[in-house]
Amino acid sequence: MYPSDDPTSTTASSARSISRPSSASSTPSRGPAKSLPAGAPSTQDFEVRDTPTAGRAVFASRFLPEGTLLWRSDDLTLYVLLREYRREVCGQCFSYDYGRDLPIRDQGVGFAFCSTQCQDVWGIWNGSVGVDAWRAVEALVKKRSKEGDKMAEEGLQRPTSKAITKAWEEVEIQASLIRTLREVEQSTASSSSPHATEVIESVRITKQHRKALSKALQRKISPDVMAFIVSGIIWYHNNPQDWPKVLALADDQTPYHSADDLAAFVRSYLHLLAILPLPLLSYLSPEIVFLLSSRDSHNSFGIRSLEDDGSEFFGYGCWPAASYFNHSCGPNIEQKRVGRVWEFRAGRDIGEGGELNITYLSGEEWKTSREKRKGVLKKNWGFDCACPRCEAI
Ligand SMILES: [Zn+2]
Ligand SMILES: [Zn+2]
Repeated sequence: MYPSDDPTSTTASSARSISRPSSASSTPSRGPAKSLPAGAPSTQDFEVRDTPTAGRAVFASRFLPEGTLLWRSDDLTLYVLLREYRREVCGQCFSYDYGRDLPIRDQGVGFAFCSTQCQDVWGIWNGSVGVDAWRAVEALVKKRSKEGDKMAEEGLQRPTSKAITKAWEEVEIQASLIRTLREVEQSTASSSSPHATEVIESVRITKQHRKALSKALQRKISPDVMAFIVSGIIWYHNNPQDWPKVLALADDQTPYHSADDLAAFVRSYLHLLAILPLPLLSYLSPEIVFLLSSRDSHNSFGIRSLEDDGSEFFGYGCWPAASYFNHSCGPNIEQKRVGRVWEFRAGRDIGEGGELNITYLSGEEWKTSREKRKGVLKKNWGFDCACPRCEAI
């Protein structure tokens, strides 16, 4: 699922991945989807409907002239800015100046910004707990900066659901020892609360607890995987009311690309249990960490440079509403990123009832043969493309 130009990324980073093929070859059911999923886009110009073969799809509600701005997705949830680009790409607006270092570098949190305004907005977006979380991660990464985050994963098998469950279960005991240690230490530090005394009375911290924590911290670190998890749980902590938008996305039950990838997530979970601010620990569970990967896998959009046909891949993010557009190799919708917002416009005149499609392929992939395109779509997004361009004889 890694984009071909970025062998080092470590999580679901498909450039414009959404799970479903065009429904062009199927007949849409009548009327809108019974109830619109949380986070689905809703306007006068188009509607989201269920289709018999392609899941949910988006259809024009009226004639849409070429160039019409149809949707602005400003609902970024979790995102990863790959560590190697953090000095050059603004942590807030993702602007990039041909590889020049940005004027403002916040070494404490490990992000750079194009302006103090972006820095401020980033701080507000993350909140004080979120900013503390990034500081904790950055401190750990700096301490271990000699280690790489690169994994050679070509040709490796995706772990099965059974392997995934086993990997998470294997660290359960260690995780609960770390969690207990952190909670008891915190309550000792603020022992004025009556609840704190209760906790201390019921749990005795032993060598075993401390060993579990130091063992976790000694494990190999994967900064981009940690950033993925941290960004997801900070977002969840700050926007609990929007969590159903993420849950409503098409999921992938085997989202890890290889055994190494799965292991990096499990290790990062333990690292974060050991270092994150306490208010975030209740969000940090194997279930939530897995859920973030399972929803991101087929729904993330690549964050690319705007200046050079997007040849630089900086990272990726999940904008739930944007995920409702299906793929076609001959799309009628053009998408463009403006800062943290995706804009969708009619690329040509679209008649009432026509399906609105974007392409998940990069510029290069888009130009290749039918067989190559179908191969990429199958490998990265798991579907057999049946769009008119692929079906044409
Ligand atoms: Zn900026
Ligand atoms: Zn196609």
